[in-house]
Amino acid sequence: MIMDLHTHTRHSPDAANDTVAERVAAANRLGLRYMAVTDHVEINRYYPAAYYRRQETEEFVYDGEAVFRGSAAEVTAAQADCAPLTLLCGVEIGQIPQDPALAEMLYRDPRVDLVIGSVHELPGMADFYFIDYAKTDIPALISAYFDEVLRLAQTDCYDILAHLTYGLRYLPNRADYDLTPHLPVIDRIFRTVIAKGKAVELNGSNLKAEQPFTDPDVSLIRRYRALGGKSLTLSTDAHETRYLGYQMDKLEQMAREAGFTELTCFRKHQPFRIPL
Ligand SMILES: [Zn+2]
Ligand SMILES: [Zn+2]
Repeated sequence: MIMDLHTHTRHSPDAANDTVAERVAAANRLGLRYMAVTDHVEINRYYPAAYYRRQETEEFVYDGEAVFRGSAAEVTAAQADCAPLTLLCGVEIGQIPQDPALAEMLYRDPRVDLVIGSVHELPGMADFYFIDYAKTDIPALISAYFDEVLRLAQTDCYDILAHLTYGLRYLPNRADYDLTPHLPVIDRIFRTVIAKGKAVELNGSNLKAEQPFTDPDVSLIRRYRALGGKSLTLSTDAHETRYLGYQMDKLEQMAREAGFTELTCFRKHQPFRIPL
């Protein structure tokens, strides 16, 4: 198993209470070669709630600074004793366009190998998980979502564009949603990522759902490839140890089907290719 470049440990507020050492042991049992720990930092709530004069709620979790401090310390300590696995120090930064300067500071932290850039929520709104879709103009929401992903793609403080279709993940009838009107902006996102030498992620988090799908689907990965995209990463986005490497053979197969013969990994933000 080549890689799982997007995983969460006990430092992420929505993950199980799993240590990095436990993950390293599991990765070595699976024969995983590259694993990145990428705990959550929502950059628009980087400081504790009091800093923003707000209360912490289920929808709005604060203090990404503490997450990053704990995660980076535990990962870098574990790097000394993880062989044969290569353990990479990463961070998943949400909402980079809302505070690119702060994101840039994390990107430049000397411990960080790779940054995953994500849009989990639109400005002034909660995570897509919490949206009441029955009361929402869904095409308008999804348009705003892809516009925000384009803004993210245009920044410089990420290496991997995460789960491109996250905004669709919790739609009541996702399978019936027509992406055609959004393809022009999706192409702009891909062209921007390619021009900047960044990577796109094939995220298998929802392969465990009742109606399994990947973010994005194989047709969009093919589209990225057709536009000249060469840098692809694979991830489970595991929030607990039992999902580390989950259905990775399927993700590898999808990458091959889309025409990829290599995957991309990052060390200190420098991309390198691994035969698939
Ligand atoms: Zn995410
Ligand atoms: Zn994640």
